[in-house]
Amino acid sequence: MKVASIVLSLGLLLGAAVVPRDRGPSVDREASREHRTSAALRKSLVIIVDGLRPDALHAAGAQHIESLIDGTFAPGYRGAYSPSAQAEEVTLSGPGHSSILTGVHLGKHGVASNAFDAKAGTFSGARYERYRDYFAVIEAARPELHTVRLVTWDATHSIPSGAGKAMLLKDDDAALALTAARILAGTHPDYPEDPDALFVFFSDTDNAGHQHGFSPARRGYLDAIRKVDEQIGSILSALKSRPDFAREDWQIVLTSDHGGAPDGRHDGGTPEKRTVPFLVTSRIATQGLMGGRPEIVDVAPTVLAHMGSTAPAVYDGRAQGCLHVVASGSQSGKAGRNRGERQPAGTTGKSSKGFENSPNRTDVYDSPPAGQRASIRFRPTEPPYIIPC
Ligand SMILES: [Zn+2]
Repeated sequence: MKVASIVLSLGLLLGAAVVPRDRGPSVDREASREHRTSAALRKSLVIIVDGLRPDALHAAGAQHIESLIDGTFAPGYRGAYSPSAQAEEVTLSGPGHSSILTGVHLGKHGVASNAFDAKAGTFSGARYERYRDYFAVIEAARPELHTVRLVTWDATHSIPSGAGKAMLLKDDDAALALTAARILAGTHPDYPEDPDALFVFFSDTDNAGHQHGFSPARRGYLDAIRKVDEQIGSILSALKSRPDFAREDWQIVLTSDHGGAPDGRHDGGTPEKRTVPFLVTSRIATQGLMGGRPEIVDVAPTVLAHMGSTAPAVYDGRAQGCLHVVASGSQSGKAGRNRGERQPAGTTGKSSKGFENSPNRTDVYDSPPAGQRASIRFRPTEPPYIIPC
């Protein structure tokens, strides 16, 4: 199936399933205030599933990932999703993982292949000293936070991390899931701290794709996706079992470093190799399909936006999946309509049926994050109708 028809059929399928949940402006306003006061409880989980094609993800019936997409993961959570996000032009894991972690394209981070520089101890050409992983940004801004990066590929583990704890569970997705679940539950013997930002990287899907072919029609590949979905389910279960889960404000981001082809290869940058899923689930995510084409470099700024850290100016990505609530009849309401933003219940805005983020939309803030220019300024007396992401 061509990517365009996959996207179209997914749009039709998900458009029906992920109709936005209408909430009145007063409720949204309350949510906005609540969000502003909950910074201490904001937490991040990033899940990378190596070599995951979006059409295969849906063909596999990955129920746990689907629950993040359709907003049934937990009460109060919503999923913003794209089945047509873009990996790097060079559809290899080294460049892809580097882009995900550093928020910049390979022209900046310098990793153009999986070639390993033994002397440097990491990918050849890497400029990680200049483009650090997003954990370094979080830790610099908020050193009191507990941050953990877990990976299964030793080459990815060689990417320097600013995380408080970086662990390699070599080639063992099951151990990775167990480790993540224990850390979330507070039962890991080597990591008793309560995590604020956690990154997990699964690799068996890539292995299965190489062996059976990356295709929604290859059983071995779909079996691997279902297996990793179960492992992700165990992590989500541990997350939801946390004593303070009801008060916490989690953002869960899921994507992949590349897709793949039925011949078992993923090098070459063709659409089926470059197209990946991109998911942001949180209390303020916009439920439905994202407009435009998110890129894997959007992971880092998306996490930083949630954690309240300013994205470095060098970043190529932008925050995705945020809910921009606009007030009826206000200046912000006009701005929202002009930019195709979601309309609160009771306004005349046309229901977007899932396509809620207009392509090329301009972010609006009631006060601009440090170092950024707001596209719209609001009167100081105006209540905060817009939730900055
Ligand atoms: Zn990969």
